Amino acid sequence: MPTGPGDVLALIRAGEATTRGALLEQTGLSRMTLSRRVDTLLSAGLVVDDGGAGASSGRRARLLRFHADHAKVVAVAVDTTHARIALTDLVAQPVAVEEIALDVTDGPAPTLAAITAAVTALLERTATPVSSVCGFGLSIPGPVDPLTGRPNQPPMMPGWDGYPMADEVAAALPGIPVVTANDADAAAIGEERSRPSTTRAMCLLKVATGIGTGIIIDGRPYRGLDGGAGDIGHVRLRDHPDALCQCGARGCLAAVASGRAVAAKLRERGIPAQSGRDVGRLVAHGNADADQLTREAGQLIGEVLATVVCVLNPEVVVVGGAMSSAPLLAGLRETLYRLTPARATRHLTLEMGRLGDDAAVVGLAHAVVDEVFSAAAVNARLGA
Ligand SMILES: [Zn+2]
Repeated sequence: MPTGPGDVLALIRAGEATTRGALLEQTGLSRMTLSRRVDTLLSAGLVVDDGGAGASSGRRARLLRFHADHAKVVAVAVDTTHARIALTDLVAQPVAVEEIALDVTDGPAPTLAAITAAVTALLERTATPVSSVCGFGLSIPGPVDPLTGRPNQPPMMPGWDGYPMADEVAAALPGIPVVTANDADAAAIGEERSRPSTTRAMCLLKVATGIGTGIIIDGRPYRGLDGGAGDIGHVRLRDHPDALCQCGARGCLAAVASGRAVAAKLRERGIPAQSGRDVGRLVAHGNADADQLTREAGQLIGEVLATVVCVLNPEVVVVGGAMSSAPLLAGLRETLYRLTPARATRHLTLEMGRLGDDAAVVGLAHAVVDEVFSAAAVNARLGA
């Protein structure tokens, strides 16, 4: 196996080998070569030697750790009505978070300009020099082509199809690599990494102003041929042929069960609400109409989720997004368990996300660090 400094760092980062002894065993390198690799990582500041651990018993193996504060990551999760902007360390812990209001239907240029201005202001406010930022993660509520990193016919984002969003961000923050993703995929990565152990198969269901899923198989996101994997919001339901969706079609799941759809039903009852977030707030405050309509939305989404569960056979479905709540989960359970054979749900856990609103920014930060500190990237920078 290749055993440059990047490969040694990969073992340390993954927690697979965190002492020199374990690294010798795993890499098969000579003691002298391994020592050189570790010294390279130490002097580059990528690894810290926990020399103090057990200092009184000097023979205890010294632990090597990935240096979480070596650099920072900027992560921006764009949603339909706002963007969440986070500055994180290299283990994806947010050190500063803020939100700005926006409207993705304004198009990419003004949206991205508002984002880069807010990021610049956040860096200034936290006294973070641009030179200490190692990467920028950007997610959008629509499919992202895995090859080009550009939006791929996002149903709710007019004007964004094929837009070079990474180039535009990179022009505003020169020299910083940009990683782009679909928001449900990013949230799935964040939630999966926050679990105590790797899941063989996981599905994140995001229910907010739109509906989508992110799929993780063997610890890695599965994005499909053109980034559309898991985009279940626009599956047509048989019983709702007239419901007009924001994508222009009729009868989509999102047209009847998204936060936008539930908000519209609440307005018909005289309750002001515009977005999935408004619906989530009403549910949290015990509004009975919002509770009932959210549960009904859960039942409809469960009908489509039943097929997802039968195809993927996941260990866990994590429910995130602004509408994630007890009534939503109750509704999902009702149809999901009714429409699937017992075998398909025998080992399935259906649960709320652990990261709340931070899921996508945390997932983006992991994705950026995985890319910038991959074995190949580190070997290229430090010399294999
Ligand atoms: Zn649609």
